[in-house]
Amino acid sequence: MVRSAPLPRIRPDIFVYVLLLAACGAAGGVRADDHGGAGGGRADDHRGAGGDLRADTRRAPVETVILLSWDGTRPVDIASPQLPTLARLRREGASASALVPVFPSNTFPNHVSLVTGVRSQHHGVVNNVFLDPERGKHSYANDPTWLQAEPLWSLLARHGIVSAAYYWVGSEGPWTSGLGPKHWHAFDSKTPNREKVEQILAWLDLEDPRERPRFVSAWFHGADGPGHRDGPGSPAALESLQRQDVQLGRLVAGLETRGLLARTILILVSDHGMARVERVVDPAAALDDAGIRARLLGAGGFAIVALEDPADAARAVELARSRGISAWRREDVPPELGAANPRFGDVVLMAPVGTAMVREGLGGTVQKLLRKTGVSMRGSHGHAPDHPEMAGIFIAFGADVPAGLELGMVSALDVAPTVLALFGLPIPETMTGRPLLGGPHAATGRPLLGGPDAATGRPLLGGPDAAGRPLLGGPHAIAGRPASGGAVPSTAPEREAP
Ligand SMILES: [Zn+2]
Repeated sequence: MVRSAPLPRIRPDIFVYVLLLAACGAAGGVRADDHGGAGGGRADDHRGAGGDLRADTRRAPVETVILLSWDGTRPVDIASPQLPTLARLRREGASASALVPVFPSNTFPNHVSLVTGVRSQHHGVVNNVFLDPERGKHSYANDPTWLQAEPLWSLLARHGIVSAAYYWVGSEGPWTSGLGPKHWHAFDSKTPNREKVEQILAWLDLEDPRERPRFVSAWFHGADGPGHRDGPGSPAALESLQRQDVQLGRLVAGLETRGLLARTILILVSDHGMARVERVVDPAAALDDAGIRARLLGAGGFAIVALEDPADAARAVELARSRGISAWRREDVPPELGAANPRFGDVVLMAPVGTAMVREGLGGTVQKLLRKTGVSMRGSHGHAPDHPEMAGIFIAFGADVPAGLELGMVSALDVAPTVLALFGLPIPETMTGRPLLGGPHAATGRPLLGGPDAATGRPLLGGPDAAGRPLLGGPHAIAGRPASGGAVPSTAPEREAP
């Protein structure tokens, strides 16, 4: 395959400068005026110094994008030298130091954010389990009828791009547009990841372009299961990742032997991290003891309370806070987190890292029994999305992704715009993330940060927003900020944009 020479770490000042050029359209041959000035200043501001950098090279959209999610996998998990394929992807591709999940840092909300580019309050899958006021209970449902924002499969289909999904929340059937992934499977957690790799390669082998997907999304078990059972970074988690690393290697080898890697970009992400559980609380029992009739939906770091009598909200909040849990009436949840959707229930609970909400019941006997049978909770997520322990992974590899490029921190919201940009498609205004790679797009008038390098035509990845907006546009901003209600985990350090 054709591969660009490894790039050294780019000095931030140079990086900003080149990004400004890209943002102003100098790189893609689009005039600054065309952009409407949303983010980057005018080309005139930068003209002159960058004249010799300009080139009329325009990056062709990639042929295929494969988006793999490894559930509950942390950046530190993939740094193990015992994972050779991951090591290669990081060495030869671009990787983020962290992918900041959306609120809540749980599997279902984040998988939907990864493919819709909007936060959970907007796409509606606000937790793995929640109540819809009209429709009733959602519990680990994979069909798109729960989605309130359009996912990639449907957006791409509008542009004639066929997609396939091997397990992804919201992929099992067509979205309301009538469009969806052409190929999908009904979720079964027992399916070996080997089978997914074989299916992905078989899809790519399809002769008929009306059948052959150009966008494939697939879910791997990642480190989630052993992370919950045995704790993050446990030997069991590493063993599980080693087996998946082998399968990832088969996928990469399959792309190489087919000669597809030069036109394919493989993006590996995860939905959230995992934190070690130091103590457990049982908010349901506390509510019960106080005579507050409620349903508690969720466990670990995040839960939703649906009250029988909404007038109990203030008491429920008080009670949870007295147990060391951040709690808000839904309408008081800090906007940086975002709970403006009735599916968030009456009261929202978020435990600090180290604390897991469980249903102990009967003086803890339920939990003791669970521990005996090996399903006790030693790892949890759902905590503050900007906490470092909740960080997921992001690696992009293949085609002309510059080798060894470090992206710093990225957001789960950046992934959908990145996929659209790679296909050269417009990014809907509703998506607030930034494309991390990909060529110029003409339709939105928004400057494409991370568009092609003016000099080389290679994609730029990441870097600070030229407009000076916060890079991640949201949840991570809460660290250290006094929340309007409830404690912000004191362990969360301040973070700076890369
Ligand atoms: Zn997960």
